[in-house]
Amino acid sequence: MINKIGRVKAAKTIDFMETELPDLKEGEARVKIEASMICGSDLHIFKDRHPSVKLPVTIGHEFSGMVLETGKNVEKIKKGDRVVVEPSVICGTCEACRHGNYGYCENISFTYRCGDGAMAKYFTGQADRMYLLPDTISCEKGALTEPLAVAVHGVKRAALTLGDTVAVIGAGAIGIMVAVICKRLGAKTVIISDYSKYRLEMARELGIDRTVLASEENLTDVVKDYSRGKGFKKAFECVGLEAALHQAIECVCANGLVTIVGIFEKPQIQIDASLFVKKELRIQGSQGYCWDFEDALQLLQEIPFEKLITHRYPLEQLEDAIRVAGDISKNSIKVCINP
Ligand SMILES: [Zn+2]
Ligand SMILES: [Zn+2]
Repeated sequence: MINKIGRVKAAKTIDFMETELPDLKEGEARVKIEASMICGSDLHIFKDRHPSVKLPVTIGHEFSGMVLETGKNVEKIKKGDRVVVEPSVICGTCEACRHGNYGYCENISFTYRCGDGAMAKYFTGQADRMYLLPDTISCEKGALTEPLAVAVHGVKRAALTLGDTVAVIGAGAIGIMVAVICKRLGAKTVIISDYSKYRLEMARELGIDRTVLASEENLTDVVKDYSRGKGFKKAFECVGLEAALHQAIECVCANGLVTIVGIFEKPQIQIDASLFVKKELRIQGSQGYCWDFEDALQLLQEIPFEKLITHRYPLEQLEDAIRVAGDISKNSIKVCINP
């Protein structure tokens, strides 16, 4: 059987590779891909501005599908099962892996960077990195497990607690998911800002108290209003821009915690170091996920995140789909490829 895999060949150029499917090795399973979402990181790659990805590279890492066949010694899943795939590739032997902290694997990679992109007809990989989709979760919704796991990981790192006050900068899929999870964990107030009215409407539909249209209101002023000038306890930077990080810093109170989830195309930025002392400001990053897929699957069953899927395209129109996903005027949040 021939697989067709979408690839970013050069900046702003998509092509497709046609390759013979490999034989299944021990512990592997083959999946017919049913739904594959475009991620913000794919947009950075498309522009050749991803800080850790070189072109050409196959893309697609948020996907689900139906198991076609399994190799030797695969017990957890069988032919006909619907699964979502955790796309990080870990060595299993470095110190971090041996301690179960595979998110810090010294040799970490992702399936798409190894030529197994999921903007494709089929995916072949380790069965122990696949999770069964509950009957209540469609393949399309299941393909949101990966970005939701990113959001879950960020919120866990921020140690959200009952009564927390939270500002989220950026209402892309991850920002909205972060905000909704904070709310569900008992945050008292969650405010999210963006330049897209459409995205903010979606955040409100999913239960966020207060949204800020960045072209009309200043998030920092709104946060000060809500907190008698003190600032919120926690902020999440979900954009990947210096200005957004500065805003996140302005939004938090003394000893406040800023968590960076966005990917910075220009990582060299300026920060006033005295804030770390004067305000005892804390800033941390959040990278991917580590044991977060099952929690994400649980949340997917409880929250109608499928509302975030705004556009659908066949595999052949991958380039159009990427352009729509990267164009704020097209009111897109999650763009789904149905191969
Ligand atoms: Zn992603
Ligand atoms: Zn490792």
